[in-house]
Amino acid sequence: MNMSRDTQKHNGFDLLRINLIRKLVLWAGFPYIFQILTLLVFLALAVIGWGLFPPNGVDDKLFAKTNLTNLTIWGLWWPLMIWGAVLFGRIWCAICPMELISNFSERLGRVIGIRQKPLSKWLRSGVLIVALYTVIQLLVAGAHLHRIPAYTSVFLFTLLAVALFTGLLLKDRAFCRGFCPVGMLLNAYGRGSMLAVRHASDRACASCTSRDCVLPGNRKKLVGRSCPSLLNPAKLNSTSDCLVCGQCVKSCAPSNMTLLLRRPFHSADYREPLASWPLTMFIILVSGFVTYELCTEWVQAEHVFLWVPQQLSLNIGLNTNNGWIKGFWTLFIFPFLLWSFFGAIVKLFEFNTNLTTIWRSLALPLVIVISAGHMVKSIAKFVSWVGFLPYAIRDPFGFKTVHQFTSGILQIPAPIIDKIVVSIIGIAIMLIGIYFAIREFRLTHDESRVYWLIPKLILGIMFLFIVFGKEWSFF
Ligand code: SF4
Ligand code: SF4
Ligand code: SF4
Repeated sequence: MNMSRDTQKHNGFDLLRINLIRKLVLWAGFPYIFQILTLLVFLALAVIGWGLFPPNGVDDKLFAKTNLTNLTIWGLWWPLMIWGAVLFGRIWCAICPMELISNFSERLGRVIGIRQKPLSKWLRSGVLIVALYTVIQLLVAGAHLHRIPAYTSVFLFTLLAVALFTGLLLKDRAFCRGFCPVGMLLNAYGRGSMLAVRHASDRACASCTSRDCVLPGNRKKLVGRSCPSLLNPAKLNSTSDCLVCGQCVKSCAPSNMTLLLRRPFHSADYREPLASWPLTMFIILVSGFVTYELCTEWVQAEHVFLWVPQQLSLNIGLNTNNGWIKGFWTLFIFPFLLWSFFGAIVKLFEFNTNLTTIWRSLALPLVIVISAGHMVKSIAKFVSWVGFLPYAIRDPFGFKTVHQFTSGILQIPAPIIDKIVVSIIGIAIMLIGIYFAIREFRLTHDESRVYWLIPKLILGIMFLFIVFGKEWSFF
């Protein structure tokens, strides 16, 4: 790494200057060894959860916390992944077992002579990812996918199977680019990532003749592949699609790639003025989901949020707690009403701008507030679930433990951080999120159109109110 760093625009600290990290990223076993380890954990969890349903008369939420599969996937891994995505982009992708499976099956498909196709344009757009994410959220609401170990197990095996088949039939990391249900979330939440793979010197890239980081001939290598996601590492200016796999670092003979640790929402990153349609739809959808998730932490807010679906269920003769109706309200009707309201506010000032353009312009700055809200929910969930881990390790299936909890032999573990402290942390996170959303507005918009800030402020204040009210309300 004796090259002069003549590009200051991506400034930050190059983690590859730390010998240990540099050796690790350049090591042929990275990231494969870590992916194998996470694959083994995923497989073990899928096997543990296989065929398990909560015992009769036991609350499925309590059982979910005592069963190792559900506890690990939904109570620990998922909240950590939300935090990881917002702070460090697609850091999880670097060690993700699904990428390993699709990488392996893509190679197998080539060896056995399958004529693998490139990903079609509509799959690349992310439409299917949004659809899959929606289905999963509906299954969470309607079938309690996140509380029944048997369903979580089927979910994990299905993900692995789809990764296997897409790898066999399609080329160039097709599963990650067109099928992974969390791909859009990582893309949207990771845009302010403090971790970024970037080239160091423009001059070095301009004089590079081999261009190994994009050379098609390198794509089939095991180590030092040209970017398997078909990005151009020498021109990378966003964290949205980079899987931090380190292959470009290995392939770049002049050692011109860096792994930067930098401030969040770096001003040198590219910002799309209009989000794509699938991304906009995803952000609209997730705004409803996160609002509901935050409301579940404050019982009065949950009552208010669910009043409409409960009335609807009553009117059509269903149980007021019908999960499918709740899911439909949370994912479609509520966000549609909320975003129509946001659209109407902007239209008051810019009557000629059409609603779809307003939504697409609002989506990326608003997702910062939404991801901050998601972080708050994640920390609340993590601290109240992690105390169950020692019990779940001792009794992975959870039947004995849940019986001891329900019969009073064992005390339900308290959250590891006091709820008031979590609430204060939550308020701080929301304020930081609102700050960055306003900053993004100033970086991407004409400042005279200050009314574009109103929807961000409304959403931010609404989330802040829920987080604040949870501990300090008099209700
Ligand atoms: S995009 Fe999805 S499948 Fe691919 S590495 Fe990331 S999390 Fe794993
Ligand atoms: S291989 Fe390295 S130096 Fe060459 S174009 Fe790619 S990033 Fe630049
Ligand atoms: S740009 Fe580099 S680190 Fe990012 S996905 Fe491509 S090869 Fe991996």
